[in-house]
Amino acid sequence: MSNSAANKAASLARHFETELVHGGTLRSQFAETSEALFLTQGHVYDSAEQCEKRFLGEDAGFIYARFSNPTVAMFEKRMALLEGAEAARATATGMAAVTAALMGLVKAGDHVVAAQALFGSCRYVVEEHLPRYGVESTLVNGTDLDAWRKAVRPNTKVFFLESPANPTLEVIDIEAVAKIAKSCGAKLIVDNVFATPLWQKPLALGADCVTYSATKHIDGQGRCLGGVILASEEFITTHVHTLLRQTGPAMSPFNAWVLLKGMETLSLRIERQTRTAATLADWLAGQKKVTKLIFPGRKDHPQAEIIARQMGGPSTLIALEVAGGKAAAFRFLNALKIFRISNNLGDAKSLAVHPATTTHQRFTPEVRASMGVGDGLVRLSVGLEHPDDLIADLEAALALV
Ligand SMILES: *Cc1c(COP(=O)(O)O)cnc(C)c1O
Repeated sequence: MSNSAANKAASLARHFETELVHGGTLRSQFAETSEALFLTQGHVYDSAEQCEKRFLGEDAGFIYARFSNPTVAMFEKRMALLEGAEAARATATGMAAVTAALMGLVKAGDHVVAAQALFGSCRYVVEEHLPRYGVESTLVNGTDLDAWRKAVRPNTKVFFLESPANPTLEVIDIEAVAKIAKSCGAKLIVDNVFATPLWQKPLALGADCVTYSATKHIDGQGRCLGGVILASEEFITTHVHTLLRQTGPAMSPFNAWVLLKGMETLSLRIERQTRTAATLADWLAGQKKVTKLIFPGRKDHPQAEIIARQMGGPSTLIALEVAGGKAAAFRFLNALKIFRISNNLGDAKSLAVHPATTTHQRFTPEVRASMGVGDGLVRLSVGLEHPDDLIADLEAALALV
């Protein structure tokens, strides 16, 4: 899918790049150029009558920042436009978005099917948190469509997946999984963090709900946490609106403002970071000490054919395995100078992490192996530096492995 196809898939009246800069802007009476930061918990009313009407929903306007805030509303509107979603709700973090989307759809006695290759915290919510409330879950190999079909029970209400997955960059056929979900009356939630809103439109592929950690590429400069849930108006109203208002995982207006500024440069950053990642992946693939290289933009990616169909571009992330397990991976990480060791991703600064001892540390070696997280695996998040400097950094570090 090219970027113009991404524009079409999201049925944008204006192009993606234009909405990134202008979408959802609410100007105050001062007609400011840059989005205003409404750092306020609440709002005052002209009269008790107006206040009553506001609470009844008969008078449009803001009430309290746990419910909504003008700066947060701009962020939500802009995200909804980009994603081609009718509605969006911002949350304090990506995990708040994932948790609220999942918990909003289930009650005790229900069942969730999820892909096993998940970000550690997402897997915790599915595998350990939901069962405490009587919601069972089954984890499947997300690339195996039969496994999704076989896992379905009469009480299955939700399918959940990440694609590409963290950190293995495994890709799932979203359209095919959406069809299976639809056939059994379950809702499909896609965590689209790794793809970014630029490269993949899960709603156009049949998903019911998309979540992001805005902490990653949407901020893009490692400053603040944020999350967002995107879906139809009906989905949001029925499943998450009240849950979010009453339980309070609200986004701070300050963070929404930073994220709005981040979005202005999102396509520039993602396009450049993706291009550099592709250059680095091709270079790494030719290195003797790299025993495995996974990049969604390469023909040797196990799901290359699905990627060509469902993504407009590959990724700003690379997964690689160095020979020699954990000790070699640590030597490699410790020798890097421009790539810094950090578990964040999607940043302007290139970052590297050892998933087995960080994001996926909680799991037993067997579970990690089933998720594709070996002891030699390193995840690279490619930033905005010059590719030649990054290659020189990788080359020097590999020499010490
Ligand atoms: C980081 C991440 C999250 C969680 O986001 P936070 O903003 O850190 O809460 C969820 N899913 C994926 C795939 C992530 O990479």
